[in-house]
Amino acid sequence: MKTLCELKRDDLEKDFSKIVSIVSKPKYICKKCARVAKDKKYLCKAVELKDI
Ligand SMILES: [Zn+2]
Repeated sequence: MKTLCELKRDDLEKDFSKIVSIVSKPKYICKKCARVAKDKKYLCKAVELKDI
């Protein structure tokens, strides 16, 4: 799967349930796109939320 930052509207619909599980308990935020995820591999500029 691509990073959340790269997702297009079509990708979002296709992988929606997976994306919900990735963003529902976030540990990281993307410094560039303000998206959140449980794992930094889903973001392009991940920063751990507890470090902010
Ligand atoms: Zn990003």
